Amino acid sequence: MSEQNKDMSYVMNTYAQLPVTFVKGEGVWLWSDTGEKYLDALSGVAVCGLGHCHPRLAEALCKQARTLIHTSNIYFIEKQEQLAARLTSLSGMEKAFFCNSGAEANEAAIKLARLYGHNKGVSLPTIVVMERAFHGRTMATLTATGNRKVQAGFEPLLSGFVRVPYNNLEAVRQVAVNNKNVVAVLVEPFQGEGGVNIPQAHYLHELRMLCDEYGWLLMLDEVQSGIGRSGKWFAFQHSEIIPDVMTLAKGLGSGVPIGGCLARGIAANTFKPGNHASTFGGNPLACTAAIETLAVLEEDGLIDHASALGKFIHDRLESQLAGLDKVVEIRSQGLMIGIELAMPCTELVRRALEQKLLINVTSEKVVRLLPALVMKQEEAVLVVDTVCQLIKEFVVAG
Ligand SMILES: *Cc1c(COP(=O)(O)O)cnc(C)c1O
Repeated sequence: MSEQNKDMSYVMNTYAQLPVTFVKGEGVWLWSDTGEKYLDALSGVAVCGLGHCHPRLAEALCKQARTLIHTSNIYFIEKQEQLAARLTSLSGMEKAFFCNSGAEANEAAIKLARLYGHNKGVSLPTIVVMERAFHGRTMATLTATGNRKVQAGFEPLLSGFVRVPYNNLEAVRQVAVNNKNVVAVLVEPFQGEGGVNIPQAHYLHELRMLCDEYGWLLMLDEVQSGIGRSGKWFAFQHSEIIPDVMTLAKGLGSGVPIGGCLARGIAANTFKPGNHASTFGGNPLACTAAIETLAVLEEDGLIDHASALGKFIHDRLESQLAGLDKVVEIRSQGLMIGIELAMPCTELVRRALEQKLLINVTSEKVVRLLPALVMKQEEAVLVVDTVCQLIKEFVVAG
């Protein structure tokens, strides 16, 4: 929709939308209603890992849609069982709960942690969360989010959270000493919305040890970092640890809404019938999308490809942006890529759009790329060269 007629929209004005409407997609390419072709380096914000309209996914969805779309979680759902089995075997977790989004997956994790706390006699269970974290837009998840802009206007927030700086173990140790109500830590292995922040190498390992020492659940929000994006199936697999709870969404269904809250050990059996539910969660159509996504990622070797392509993009960015003092840092883990500039640069999104390239800016100063895992090297070259040209022009003018 053009900017002029946005005032007439019947859709609530929750997004500052860009003036483009896409009508068709294939691989890393999108076509607008005016027939122009765009290179997508954002993948619907880390959702379309297989690119747009992957033929195997489209076929599996059509077939499932003709067979059975929805029943209810009142009945056994074969596809849900299949998906849970696959996800647990890939991750080392034991059980899964399915829902429809990242926020809902985190909401499940938060409820699970509180119930876990009550079960062991903690009447005001408290969860440690991080500055600059993003966990979603429901009341509990926006409270857990470490960004005032997400919270402002929605007070009163929930109680039962304590916040510490990301990548600061001493701060977590302090909480351990001072707060007997803590029952869990909720953290992104690599922060996405917060600016593509990569913690020190032993961060998760040390958090794991603290959680073990104090009987806390280690709950990882892998909504963005999971499903191959980081160059492993799950970001925690870069460390030698395993969480108690892990949440997934974005890349899991390749655009068909599905989220998951996975758990192991005591956390896997904390929810009992009646404690939590979702009408749509894990219906046959959504589960088919996730099962097929995982199958294509595995059979086409896309996790290793994501890791190699991420390194390629990182190196090419480093060499092309070398010597620019307005480029603060290039941070990446697999295909989560951030270029921090010394100044606000949201304007670059619009300029890239004019060049028919889709990128994103997060935390005001971080140019973010989240390419599909199917992106080819020559397409990545096009992305990097266009982005670097835009950044050079921008910082020289600014
Ligand atoms: C996007 C995101 C969420 C929220 O997911 P929704 O599907 O928008 O609710 C939660 N956590 C992280 C890390 C995310 O990147």
